[in-house]
Amino acid sequence: MKALIEHGNSEEIKSYMDEKVNPCDDFYAFACGNSNNSGLGHLIKKSFNRRLSIILNDQREDNYDTPIDKQVKLFYQSCKRIKIGSNYEESLRHLISEFGTMPVLEGDAWQESQFDWQETSARISYRYGVMPILAVVITSDFAENHINRAYLGHPEFHLQTKSMYADEEHAMERIDYKNKIQKILEKFLSVESPLARQTAQELLDFEVELTRELPQSHEDFIPDKLTISEMHERYSHSIDIERFFYLSLGESLTDSVYEHFPKYQRNLVEVLKRTPAKTLANYIFYQLVSYFSEFPSETEKKQSEACVDVTKKHFAKYLDNMAYRRNSNRNEISKEIEHIWQGLKNTFDPTLRNSSVLDWMEPDNREDAIKKLASLKLHINSYDENELATEYADLELKGVDYVKDLQKIRLLEMVQIRKAFHKPAKSQEIYPGETPVNIFATNTISIPVSLLEPYPFWSESYPKSILYGTLASLIAHEILHTFYGMGSSYDHNAELCDQQECWDNKTMKNFEKLDGCFKKQYKNYVYSYDNINLIENIADNGGIRLAYAAYRNWYRDVAQTLKDKEKLPDLNYSANQLFFISYAQNWCNNGEDPIKKSVKVFLPSQLEQQKKYDVEKFRAIGPLSNFKEFSKEFQCPINANMNPTNKCKMF
Ligand SMILES: [Zn+2]
Repeated sequence: MKALIEHGNSEEIKSYMDEKVNPCDDFYAFACGNSNNSGLGHLIKKSFNRRLSIILNDQREDNYDTPIDKQVKLFYQSCKRIKIGSNYEESLRHLISEFGTMPVLEGDAWQESQFDWQETSARISYRYGVMPILAVVITSDFAENHINRAYLGHPEFHLQTKSMYADEEHAMERIDYKNKIQKILEKFLSVESPLARQTAQELLDFEVELTRELPQSHEDFIPDKLTISEMHERYSHSIDIERFFYLSLGESLTDSVYEHFPKYQRNLVEVLKRTPAKTLANYIFYQLVSYFSEFPSETEKKQSEACVDVTKKHFAKYLDNMAYRRNSNRNEISKEIEHIWQGLKNTFDPTLRNSSVLDWMEPDNREDAIKKLASLKLHINSYDENELATEYADLELKGVDYVKDLQKIRLLEMVQIRKAFHKPAKSQEIYPGETPVNIFATNTISIPVSLLEPYPFWSESYPKSILYGTLASLIAHEILHTFYGMGSSYDHNAELCDQQECWDNKTMKNFEKLDGCFKKQYKNYVYSYDNINLIENIADNGGIRLAYAAYRNWYRDVAQTLKDKEKLPDLNYSANQLFFISYAQNWCNNGEDPIKKSVKVFLPSQLEQQKKYDVEKFRAIGPLSNFKEFSKEFQCPINANMNPTNKCKMF
């Protein structure tokens, strides 16, 4: 049996590889060149979704089912029952009628005098949290993160970045989006084709105008803090800010608020002047309808799968908790993660104390870094069952009508959000995903429950080199974020300080010098500056060194019987080579959208998951070509592509 599994492992790793390629020329092509499969993130997501699907489809009353579990299963059922037709349309039209009328459905009968975009949009936001055009969001104050604040700013847009709305290279994505709008109008609201097409074009054009002044994805800025009357004054000729906040939140604010990125609002004011009310109304109602529209899949099986994602969208934390409670290996696996974690910390501590590589840090900054590492915590993010149960206690779903069930969920969520507004802020909430996340504000690294699923790390017979090349290097990447960039804006007590206070000028200058080396290297890889995210590249580079060193320490300390397990049949590579192959295979990409590429544009956040990620290939070869140990293991001659003489190094 064990041999069979080992065989399977070899096969899988091998199936990605193109061994005809010289690893010293292009290690990515060597490790991933034959790939019909995508990287680790996708594998984890896939296997976790399979697992959720089993849970959600289990209709037996089992011991695990809590009342809320049953609600979640009901929602999944209502999603599976989605069918486009008169019932669906009726529910959507009813939803629209809560807030007014939609011009494209009314024709000449539509009355402009009855429409007020600010009121309509704010009321929709209050009830369902859908925020077209202008968003009011409650979240923790980015400067004093123990309290909540209201932020005014742009909503999340369908296409994720400014350049996707503006640049020629993204013209296709815009056409796809326009077609999607048209399809929703036609299929869900029975708008005639020509009218639907024309309206879709108008809505896209409007959105292009709206997004003209979004922040660039690498742009750093600090939101303006104002009293509500100051902000009201700022827009007094165009937007009734006090009323907009009042209608969005259901209360008059007395505290200060933030304006997220004022340029967006200033542009909005100009765009509004030249936009017909009809377009505005169509846009607002389209956004509402689109939020509640799910196209059914062609087959029942596909619909089942799609509904796992839909359920995840609304119950992400809860599903993680459900899976965690049902994972019978959770304690063992948690222990193993803890073991890797300790290994990484124990390996990094002496580096921080003694290594000359870190001489760019001034002594007092280095002292603080050592303390920070010591207090850095690991957290398996399974969420608190009781807390979640209270949150959803009032939910009463029927499992029949998707729109109605989703309305109930959103209503409840908005009540919760408003309730929490004047309570102490929760430390930056982490949403489930497939990779670890560093939460600077609590000096914690959070591990999502999806990583505790048996596949693909945890087979007994898997060589540890692969575990270290994949999971440990992801965790090491997160550990390194603690020590520079946003991470260095927090001291060892996880208190925010501004970077001047935290870091000596000298440390800063030294850092920038080394940082320049990476900038040059990565600029050579990519076609536009927009695709460079040095913060990530530096963590990748340090992460692989740390994970590799931790692996070598583990290997040094274990008995020969364990060392012997570090080889795989059919794969003629040393343990160390396997480490590097599996590291690169983290980033294999079969052309599906990279999971981490999404950009949430709205809020300034300490969460790196919301930043834009580099093209996968360079995340694999960049760090490897900077790492001497890699070239040694694959015997790459000096000045081979993968072994340049000039190597960048920060950690
Ligand atoms: Zn990162």
